Amino acid sequence: MGRGSRKSARARVWTRWIAPLVVAATTIGAAHAATSVKMALTFDDLPTHSALPPDVSRIDVAGRLLAAFHDAGTGPVYGFVNGVGEEREPDSVGVLSLWRAAGHPLGNHTWSHMGLNTNSLADWEADLVRNEPLLQRQMGREDWHWLRYPFLSEGETPEKHVAARKLLKAHGYRIASVTMSFGDYAWNEPYARCMAKGDAAAVASLEDSYLKAAKDSLDYSRGLSATLYGRDIPYVLLMHAGAFDARMMPRLLKLYRDNGVTFVSLQEAERDRFYAADFKTQATSIPTSLEEAMKAKGLPVPKLDLPFADLDKMCR
Ligand SMILES: [Zn+2]
Repeated sequence: MGRGSRKSARARVWTRWIAPLVVAATTIGAAHAATSVKMALTFDDLPTHSALPPDVSRIDVAGRLLAAFHDAGTGPVYGFVNGVGEEREPDSVGVLSLWRAAGHPLGNHTWSHMGLNTNSLADWEADLVRNEPLLQRQMGREDWHWLRYPFLSEGETPEKHVAARKLLKAHGYRIASVTMSFGDYAWNEPYARCMAKGDAAAVASLEDSYLKAAKDSLDYSRGLSATLYGRDIPYVLLMHAGAFDARMMPRLLKLYRDNGVTFVSLQEAERDRFYAADFKTQATSIPTSLEEAMKAKGLPVPKLDLPFADLDKMCR
């Protein structure tokens, strides 16, 4: 058998058997892609975010969050740590170990939740580094060199912004940017107040407004991404490890699932080219959020309406 005929025999096998399978797989892939939205869940302010209702501990909050992750099959969820929490609330010791025992990773949110824009770079660096022994102890050989900027403040001047990025790179960090958020933190204090008053109707209204805000922000970020890129980027959702977040987590994860969301790791989401700036030291002009990307293109940034004013008034 000559070369030519062997090649054509292979071509026949391809046409007859393999190509239809490839076409079928591609079609299934395309159909799936149309409805699948990738999202990485991230939780800030471990181990002591916001107020607690009566008779709820920090360990309870972490346990409920972790059970919800398990039941929804989220895969690894980064928790961003402020080590000072263990000093301020000794009862919270155990939260980080619980998080690790459930198989979830931890990252740096600075020791004391220090804002870069309102502190010197040197003080901020010291606060970043002060958190490291705790992370090292909890994470061992796993990857904890991810930073979530407190208050999402990346430096109030271009010079400080670049200097912070250089410093982070020198310390081996990547930045965990945020491309979806519904201000979930703002529900935790009213929840604690309403529970202390035993106001069940108020708690029910908090539940409704929380889920509505989550859906609105999903639509909002997807809308920005569609306008900018004609596709869904993988989103990084900013959440907080608070008591109301823990209460709502099963329903929240179900809401995302019902709207076509597939949960992925932070590393997987950040592999998308949108997040390339998170790995650069000179990235002052590269947007790190969808809102900034809109501004950079000269597009008007629509407003996401969140009910902060109403939440603040509840159960006073
Ligand atoms: Zn925070």
